[in-house]
Amino acid sequence: MKKFLALALCSVSLSMYAQDHGLEKDIAAVESKVIEWRRDIHQNPELSNREFKTAEKIAAHLKSLGIEVQSGVAHTGVVGILKGGHPGKVVALRADIDALPVTERNDLPFKSEVKSEYLGQEVGVMHACGHDTHIAIMMGTAEVLAKNKDKIHGTVKFIFQPAEEGAPPGEQGGAELMVKEGVLENPKVDAIYGLHIGSYLPVGHIAYKPGGALAAAQRFVVKIKGKQSHGSQPWGGVDPIYVASKIVDGYQSIISRELELTKEAAVITVGKISGGVRNNIIPESAELVGTIRTLDYDMQKQVNDRMKEMAETIAKAYRAEATVEIAKGVPITYNDPDLTETSLPSLQKMAGNENVHLIKAITGAEDFSFYQEKIPGFFYILGGKDPNAGPDEHFPHHTPDFKIDDSGLQLGVKTMTEIALDYLDRSK
Ligand SMILES: [Zn+2]
Ligand SMILES: [Zn+2]
Repeated sequence: MKKFLALALCSVSLSMYAQDHGLEKDIAAVESKVIEWRRDIHQNPELSNREFKTAEKIAAHLKSLGIEVQSGVAHTGVVGILKGGHPGKVVALRADIDALPVTERNDLPFKSEVKSEYLGQEVGVMHACGHDTHIAIMMGTAEVLAKNKDKIHGTVKFIFQPAEEGAPPGEQGGAELMVKEGVLENPKVDAIYGLHIGSYLPVGHIAYKPGGALAAAQRFVVKIKGKQSHGSQPWGGVDPIYVASKIVDGYQSIISRELELTKEAAVITVGKISGGVRNNIIPESAELVGTIRTLDYDMQKQVNDRMKEMAETIAKAYRAEATVEIAKGVPITYNDPDLTETSLPSLQKMAGNENVHLIKAITGAEDFSFYQEKIPGFFYILGGKDPNAGPDEHFPHHTPDFKIDDSGLQLGVKTMTEIALDYLDRSK
């Protein structure tokens, strides 16, 4: 009971920070523009690190608002700096801006018909992850905040980031490169917020999780060296394909027998096995390629260490040799617990308490995590599913049928605006 009272008091004192800034009119006034921007960008999608026209549109808009603009950050990124009417901390808001090599199948007046080249192949291009909505929401947020500079106690940095889906092979890009190029410096950013639209979450709803919210993603390669021989005489060689199968099997026991899975989830997937040329030759080598997903850095270390140890030991047991390479990959999208707790009232006041949901971790990854490696950050999911769609209707991300309802964008502008103002108010 005492504990309950303390919690209740705590939430009262927190919500005191979530004041009303009286921006309803200005937010309502940008809604039709936000929808228009979103449709225009949806119809003109550009692939990762090729977001040239998209960046031009963003920069022109920010400049028209009197916001200081840096272009060409991490190739095509745009950064806007809005100094408020009062001194204070620096808060960053991030939107990713790239589209995917997917051919749209939706019948929409603003359907994408764009074609481009990707890895030497002609492909359709589509905002099949909803980054078009992120851009429009941030452009709207920038407009509302620029209009209300006098209410800002500090500085707001708008980060429009390219290549969240991954730069083309051989190129750098995304959040990692933006951080490298100093996007969190000059002025130094104290905290960062980001959102992702969700085609599975109905419009008007918000989902979040403190701590590990989205997984770290690491690519791995296991190279197995055996000894070639005739397929009819395995005793004359060392079969790397047989060893590969033992390693695949062993890896799943790391997940099921060694990790404390009640703490967080973890995944090892071998997505590719290669080796050999024909039926009657035992080849010299074989290779496994896969992905590791973790939500806790101690567990990540444990998985990485054990994968190396296990592959080497298993190979040795069968007279082969194995080497394991694990990339650093994308870090955990780790929502700073304090920042999450103090920012929650901003979401609740804009969406209504009952529409803000605590969810389980997602084993997908987000490169927003590169900012969170440096400074506290909070990333949440915004509902984008048509409220009239049935519970069994799905529009999965990264597919030709991906669909977002425009009516969800307004809550994005509301929450981004207020979460930034409230953060700066709290830090006064
Ligand atoms: Zn995506
Ligand atoms: Zn995305």
